[in-house]
Amino acid sequence: LFIDAPLSAGARIALDRGQANYLLNVLRLGTGDAVLIFNGRDGEWKAEIAVEGRKAADLVCVERSREQTAPPDLIYAFAPLKHARLDYMVQKAVEMGAGVLQPVLTRRTQSTRVNLERMRGNAIEAAEQCGILTLPEVRDEENLDKFIKGLEADRLVVFCDEDAPVSNPVEALSSLGNKSLRLAVIVGPEGGFTDQERAIVAAHQTCVRISLGPRILRADTAAVAALAVVQSMLGD
Ligand code: SAM
Repeated sequence: LFIDAPLSAGARIALDRGQANYLLNVLRLGTGDAVLIFNGRDGEWKAEIAVEGRKAADLVCVERSREQTAPPDLIYAFAPLKHARLDYMVQKAVEMGAGVLQPVLTRRTQSTRVNLERMRGNAIEAAEQCGILTLPEVRDEENLDKFIKGLEADRLVVFCDEDAPVSNPVEALSSLGNKSLRLAVIVGPEGGFTDQERAIVAAHQTCVRISLGPRILRADTAAVAALAVVQSMLGD
């Protein structure tokens, strides 16, 4: 369970209504039952429920059950999609270890007003469900050109392009032979990148253009495929 408060032995945390309802009425837990909690900074803690009523409850931190882990230095940059497809993309990117979620606006981006709060909520939910202790940073949307120009020159941009020659993307990345990379994976909008945008991304000093196979994937599917390729290179 994500808790937006410092965690330490003996700390007492008042749950908000939604969390209290979830633990007491959905999971049917009660006084003394154990819950695993995290805040994105202090690792994972075993906490016990101290019930005050059916609608309110406190947790008391007992002991740390896992140390805080550092996520891979991995920016997932994507043209925002609409509603459920964006929810799905955010969930999957978090599950697959993205440390930063960066919406980028491109010429064919259909959804230019991004609900960052909804993205954060989805990120928390994915982290809670998958035991991920570090929440990704959710950044404000940025134009593609500005995003690429703002990257460190040595950050490896993994540019997913359905027009790239089909070849094994894991081999292409593994041949770079460096597991301590700073990475940025970029996936385009429903309508794909324009040629001018392809040139902007490819102009980044450290960029590998990869194919995810001979078929055009939907953008949310491409997210999962691209991040799986990157994970198999990083090995974590
Ligand atoms: N119209 C579909 C949709 O609504 O999602 C397909 C969109 S596809 C053009 C969106 C992005 O997914 C592309 O810009 C590219 O980044 C990535 N992509 C899709 N298929 C790919 C492939 N075979 N290889 C590499 N990237 C791919």
